[in-house]
Amino acid sequence: MDFAFTPDEEALRAKVQAFISEQFTPEVLADLQRHKLGRGFGPRAAQVLEEIRARGWVAYSWPREYGGQGGKRTTQFVIEEEFFRAAQIVVGGGGTGAPAILASGTEEQKAYYVPRVIRREIVFCMGYSEPQCGSDLAGVRCRATRMGERYRISGQKIYTTNAQVSTHIFLLVRTDPESRRHKGLSVLLVPMDTPGITVRPLLTIQNEPGPPANATYAEERTNEVFFDDAEVAASCLLGAEGDGWAVSQRGLNLDRVGAFRHLISVQRDEDMVNWLKSGDARAARLRDDPVVRDKVAESWIEAQVCRLLTMRSISIEQRGGDFVYEGSAEKVFAPEHGMRSSELFGQLLGPFGQLLHGSPDNVEGGVFSHSQLGAFQSTVNHGSVQVMRDQIARKGLDLPRAPRPGARPATARGA
Ligand SMILES: Cc1cc2nc3c(=O)[nH]c(=O)nc-3n(C[C@H](O)[C@H](O)[C@H](O)COP(=O)(O)OP(=O)(O)OC[C@H]3O[C@@H](n4cnc5c(N)ncnc54)[C@H](O)[C@@H]3O)c2cc1C
Repeated sequence: MDFAFTPDEEALRAKVQAFISEQFTPEVLADLQRHKLGRGFGPRAAQVLEEIRARGWVAYSWPREYGGQGGKRTTQFVIEEEFFRAAQIVVGGGGTGAPAILASGTEEQKAYYVPRVIRREIVFCMGYSEPQCGSDLAGVRCRATRMGERYRISGQKIYTTNAQVSTHIFLLVRTDPESRRHKGLSVLLVPMDTPGITVRPLLTIQNEPGPPANATYAEERTNEVFFDDAEVAASCLLGAEGDGWAVSQRGLNLDRVGAFRHLISVQRDEDMVNWLKSGDARAARLRDDPVVRDKVAESWIEAQVCRLLTMRSISIEQRGGDFVYEGSAEKVFAPEHGMRSSELFGQLLGPFGQLLHGSPDNVEGGVFSHSQLGAFQSTVNHGSVQVMRDQIARKGLDLPRAPRPGARPATARGA
């Protein structure tokens, strides 16, 4: 098996790298940072993003009829990797809502939403979690009642990242009030300017002081979203009514696929190696220490495993296959690697490594200390590692479903 990219893909990588070093000036990076802090893109960033789109580097693997380039998923991975590494920009992988629409939408929905997502005229936030159900997503209570050609929505979502800058929400709701658990759920694509929707901020640990520009765990805020009899057209339904569990799980799996998924967790390894090679006197002292060298090398090996797991998911997506447990395996290993490496780097750097962004003696703008603060959330959001492990056990290893807490343990016959 050959894991190498083709010469054409490597040539494309070089082109993207050249573009980045030319266009990503400190001003553009500052504008891009605004978005990461939940304040939308500044004008210079918007211009560069438009340039990236005009070159066909956004949605490279999405079908041409919906505004993509019809290219290979693995080629898109090369582009994704470079833009995410440079400024945490996602150029058409997961996280946009569009892969789920391509997988489950009608022709009209694909033709309407996907090109607009590519042009960033439509930006989705993800409305899955609720105060009483995060891991246990089948307990969704937010309700949508069919009223002729409309749905009336009432309920609440929580941790809805970027709701304050999104035009639409990808909303998992209960459409059958009599239903339980996975049945009777549906997905609605809801415009955020619908009357009856209120967004309230939930600040994260990264709020004060804000993280440096190259931080991967950088969400300053997420949100609560309230629906008070918000009404939308029935045509907002994605997939069939009542099929929301399958539609949303497919969407979640596709959303997890992309270079961003492993880079969130391994970019610090790259930063650490680059910093150790730098002229910083503190780095010079550390890089000659055999223990430091061993630890960094070990971490680097894990980082490569994270990348290979992501590439396996990319390869499954490219072949049009269904994920069984592979996305979950990646979602366990990479975030836990991020936790281990950020803790390790914190220990290696000592007290200077604890200083946050803005402190004069910090290391690399405080990126390692912010990483230590933020790494944990990645083991929870987008499906927690404990729940992912359970999915691997059930779907990957075919083990029986774990008994629900409080259920009586099975006893031997006759006991
Ligand atoms: C920064 C951030 C951004 C987020 N962005 C979004 C977003 O944009 N949209 C969205 O919909 N959601 C988002 N989330 C929510 C995220 O998906 C949930 O936090 C996650 O699903 C866990 O749900 P919970 O917080 O309710 O925790 P709980 O479900 O209460 O879980 C608490 C702990 O118990 C463990 N646990 C729960 N059930 C089991 C079980 N059966 N077996 C073993 N362990 C179990 C969990 O692993 C976890 O460690 C975000 C969360 C964070 C932190």
